[in-house]
Amino acid sequence: MSVLVLGGAGYIGSHTVYELIDKGEEVIIADNLQTGYMKAVHPKAKFYKGDIRDKEFLDSLFQKEKPEAVIHFAANSLVGESMVDPLKYYDNNLYGTMVLLKSMVENKIGKIVFSSTAATYGEPENIPILETDKTEPSNTYGETKLAMEKLFKWVAQAHGIKYVSLRYFNACGAHKSGNIGEAHNPETHLIPLILQVPNNKRPEIKIFGDDYDTPDGTCIRDYIHVTDLANAHILAIEYLKKGSQNNIFNLGNGTGFSVKQVIDISRKVTNHSIPAVICPRRAGDPAKLIASSEKAKTVLKWQPIYTDLETIIESAWRWHKNHPDGYEN
Ligand code: UDP
Repeated sequence: MSVLVLGGAGYIGSHTVYELIDKGEEVIIADNLQTGYMKAVHPKAKFYKGDIRDKEFLDSLFQKEKPEAVIHFAANSLVGESMVDPLKYYDNNLYGTMVLLKSMVENKIGKIVFSSTAATYGEPENIPILETDKTEPSNTYGETKLAMEKLFKWVAQAHGIKYVSLRYFNACGAHKSGNIGEAHNPETHLIPLILQVPNNKRPEIKIFGDDYDTPDGTCIRDYIHVTDLANAHILAIEYLKKGSQNNIFNLGNGTGFSVKQVIDISRKVTNHSIPAVICPRRAGDPAKLIASSEKAKTVLKWQPIYTDLETIIESAWRWHKNHPDGYEN
């Protein structure tokens, strides 16, 4: 099978390409390299530089490569940035997906798996969160992802496209080879920021609020290894190939860790004291997000391998220690 991976030079995209190639699949990547890196592109994948908002680019790609399925990661994903520049998020995430779907319909490309997020839920009503729970995003990023899901629903109904939406919780960790890992500029995510301290890139980690209604007062998240996320995409394609119905799945480990717990585990892994300072809350942060991934486990037969946060942080540390500037330098 040949798979077109949109955003295959990004964090989760590049790890998915590595898993696909390990399984012997033919992979074509398209990425505009705005947030992705050429160094993250697997040497065995065919690469095209281009933007999903460019319909001529997509049309020619589909006509030339005729992929059996598409995996769509090409989006902006920073919550804070989405609040100050919402139009950028509607343009790249929602409009970009509209152009993609138009091109898929015209070129008769029938299967797609795409990235969604826990941010579609907003402040959850229940823990663990089920796919059927209320979706009321508290930021523009989550809102554009929810709008993408709805767009897929109606386009699928009208044109017969088959899709799976995967709602990731907190993606983290790095590939076992140590060749690829998390690299954002600017970095906003907790684990890479913590690991910048033992890497002498920052003096301390800021804890955004210790007055939440949680046991130690800091926010609780469900951290899931990027390779486990990657494998869920491959299972989702297999699921669609069997002719199964369009669907939405949460992807998380089902275990919550507070910001303080993540810092403590990072101290142990890096053998560094990692000073931390309490700062004000960050806008838009729910106190607690933990996934129920029972549906993905039952329906897709997905089983995360990295269930232990210490092992996850060890994999992240292996990458960051050897690549303190990510893919730059
Ligand atoms: N966080 C923090 N300090 C930082 C970065 C993040 O305390 O420097 C907290 C953040 O408020 C949230 C958790 O760590 O509660 C995870 O944040 P991240 O940005 O990694 O992922 P998100 O949950 O926003 O998707």
